[in-house]
Amino acid sequence: MSHRIIPVDPFDLVIFGGTGDLSRRKLIPGLYHRDADGQLPEEARIIGCARTDLDREGFRALARQAVMDHVAADHRDPQVVERFLARFEYVTNDVADDAGWDALRVMLEAASGPRIRVFYLSVGPSLFGPIVEGLHRHGLSQGARLVVEKPIGHDGPSAAALNDTIGAAFDESRVYRIDHYLGKETVQNLVALRFANALFEPLWNARHVDHVQITVAESLGVEQRGPYYDRAGAMRDMVQNHLLQLLCLTAMEPPHHFEANAVRDEKLKVLRALKPLSGHEALAASARGQYHGYADEAQNPDSRTESFVALKAEIGTWRWAGTPFYLRTGKKLRARLSEIVVTFRRTPHQIFPDLDAPLAPNALIIRLQPDEGITLSITTKDPGPGGFRMRETPLDMSFGARAGTAWRMPDAYERLVLDVVRGNQTLFMRRDEVEAAWAWVDPIIAAWEASGATPEAYDPGSDGPYGALDMLSREGRRWRVLTP
Ligand code: NAD
Repeated sequence: MSHRIIPVDPFDLVIFGGTGDLSRRKLIPGLYHRDADGQLPEEARIIGCARTDLDREGFRALARQAVMDHVAADHRDPQVVERFLARFEYVTNDVADDAGWDALRVMLEAASGPRIRVFYLSVGPSLFGPIVEGLHRHGLSQGARLVVEKPIGHDGPSAAALNDTIGAAFDESRVYRIDHYLGKETVQNLVALRFANALFEPLWNARHVDHVQITVAESLGVEQRGPYYDRAGAMRDMVQNHLLQLLCLTAMEPPHHFEANAVRDEKLKVLRALKPLSGHEALAASARGQYHGYADEAQNPDSRTESFVALKAEIGTWRWAGTPFYLRTGKKLRARLSEIVVTFRRTPHQIFPDLDAPLAPNALIIRLQPDEGITLSITTKDPGPGGFRMRETPLDMSFGARAGTAWRMPDAYERLVLDVVRGNQTLFMRRDEVEAAWAWVDPIIAAWEASGATPEAYDPGSDGPYGALDMLSREGRRWRVLTP
């Protein structure tokens, strides 16, 4: 193992919704890996808390299955599995009634000594408020940390109301709003690349960067989440949180320290510098799409919800004025692909004669999935005598290059859950960031609704609606092809 293990203090992690999909697929497997690496102290407990009527053994069986299903066989050590499962406890608590809270209190008070207390809300958003109020009412929020999943609200006012409810029970310094994109190794590597190297920062501005593209493309449709998704759409589900967070890390000024509030202050400045879009401007700077067959999956024949959105965002600062940030995300597209591409300006003058095509601009490609890694695309001479032919050569900083060693790419949740225990909020969203993101998004959604237009239909397996292609070609640019 090449990375350093920083042990954490004893903790009780209560997972509300511990029997749910997120818990089984991400949280339990991630915690297993941390235990296998020796990071969890002996006293640490993982307490499931959900509506399902289970006992401790039942929850341990569920956790065992989660490890079997989501931890690769060569990482499953029978001894570690038993040690890990012995940490699990369970409390049945339907938060809709008041019955289960006392059982949770008894469970927490049975701890063997002082410990950090974390409540993870891995439940649907309608339960965030009631759980926080329940914790507060039963005196359990005192000194504890709270982890909240997305979505934080449906728009600015509902996000502010939820943040008020949270704030009445938990001080902001103890609130961890998760955006798991920030826990990805490559996203943190973008920060390292920018601020631990002198090479890129002088080029990281409108003088040298032509434009930035941020893409989160999925090949699957809405599947069983149809009716839920139909109330949100791509803008609320993806842009308001994940894509804007990626934009912030790409565009922010260097923070004075890599420390929670310094980083979040810089991200907030970016969100506040986004050129507001409303009315006609919002319609001109956006393209919405809905894939054929979506309405059936959403069980809503009249649905106007977008399963695809493309946007042109502009950041009104000295650094970025004149460099557009194009955002695009959608479902049922050609490939599952998430990347940030920083395209630099072309050389000012072309000295090589007889080239078949203009030289491609340099591009820095930060790929989040699949195959997390960073590539710098540069132009080099095609080797060999006779003539001077050019070709694009990728300078590959992919982590895949480490394949064959015992190194394993940690999942985002694995890191983030332990960051909560360590009390490190750097990779979590602060209240004002969430609300600033809604402040940019809300008028765009309002403009779409006021227009009465339906999103443009696109074929499953395509690159999205024609309107998105047109949006860039009008500006003499092209989206990067969605290749898997
Ligand atoms: P899920 O429906 O699979 O699980 C919900 C859990 O909540 C279950 O354990 C259920 O028992 C519990 N629950 C429901 N009603 C309850 C009640 N009245 N009292 C107590 N417990 C109750 O949901 P999920 O997919 O695990 O998602 C959980 C949260 O995580 C959601 O906010 C979702 O938006 C977010 N999220 C999920 C994923 C994912 O990959 N699944 C990814 C990102 C964010």
